[in-house]
Amino acid sequence: MKAVVYRGPGELSYQDVELPTIGSGEILVRVRAALTCGTDVKTYQRGHHLMKPPMPFGHEFAGDIVQVGDGVSAFGEGMAVVAANSAPCLSCFYCHKGRQNLCEDILFNWGAFAEYIRVPARIVEHNVYQIPHGLSYEEAALLEPLACVTLGNEAACISAGDCVVIAGGGGPIGLMHLQLAINDGAAQVVVIDLKDGRLELACELGATRVINPTTEDPAAVVNELTAGRGADVVIETAGVPEVWKMALALARKGATVVMFGGCPSGTQISLDTGMVHYGELTVKGVFHHTPRTVEKALHLLSEGVVRGGPLINARVPLQQVEQALKAVMQGDAAKVAVIP
Ligand SMILES: [Zn+2]
Ligand SMILES: [Zn+2]
Repeated sequence: MKAVVYRGPGELSYQDVELPTIGSGEILVRVRAALTCGTDVKTYQRGHHLMKPPMPFGHEFAGDIVQVGDGVSAFGEGMAVVAANSAPCLSCFYCHKGRQNLCEDILFNWGAFAEYIRVPARIVEHNVYQIPHGLSYEEAALLEPLACVTLGNEAACISAGDCVVIAGGGGPIGLMHLQLAINDGAAQVVVIDLKDGRLELACELGATRVINPTTEDPAAVVNELTAGRGADVVIETAGVPEVWKMALALARKGATVVMFGGCPSGTQISLDTGMVHYGELTVKGVFHHTPRTVEKALHLLSEGVVRGGPLINARVPLQQVEQALKAVMQGDAAKVAVIP
């Protein structure tokens, strides 16, 4: 089969590889749509601690089952399915604590940018779903990032009437946070991003105010919107230390700030201790997803609470994954669907 292989930062190859063989409990899926993701872009640009090249690449996908291994009873050949990119062990310390996203033995699956992908038994057992009626393959493939966003949304504890700021939020992750904040009853959702094209899309999806920091001061705008208090909730989705700092600075006393974006390893920021103590600021990090948020994300997609269509604004064949990643890097596309 044809597949895209990650060979290190800045290096992808489109080539022939062996068709995966499956064992008991596993399924083989013919990929119908695979999506580019911020993680793919970061990995392509600067490498990733989980990626040991050469290795299969891509992790958000949906498709049709073409083969099922021994012992698989929940799924059959011909079924349209979507799978998350990982599954926790459910037996380690963190899994027992209900924090499966921090599992010490999490199993990842890569290789969505290919004609076929093998899904390991543990993922088949916990994180594969039949695609609900009415959902396209590419919308269904948003399951994994939306499961992460769902975890972040829960951490944000948004109340009806809140002013929610999404900092660095014009990308697909921020736009999913935006839709969930509206669903939670936020009265104002402010999206901050450097790219005007992304801010336009945020407006189309319901942002009540957008800010491009190159032309407007975010703190001044947020203060004006909140009688000088600051935002009730701030969600950082850029993964940039400067934006983390901005996120903290935009929060009111007693606010919750969710750090959703992972920064380059080793980076640090300083905290205003007065704001944390006297201002009772809650700062939460969130990472990845749990089987529960994967299932919840499926419902959010199938019920149309999160509209995936507007986030996917280009389609390319498998040979053009590299160009697709470059388009995302330049801000020309939110997410690109790779159609093998
Ligand atoms: Zn992803
Ligand atoms: Zn575990």
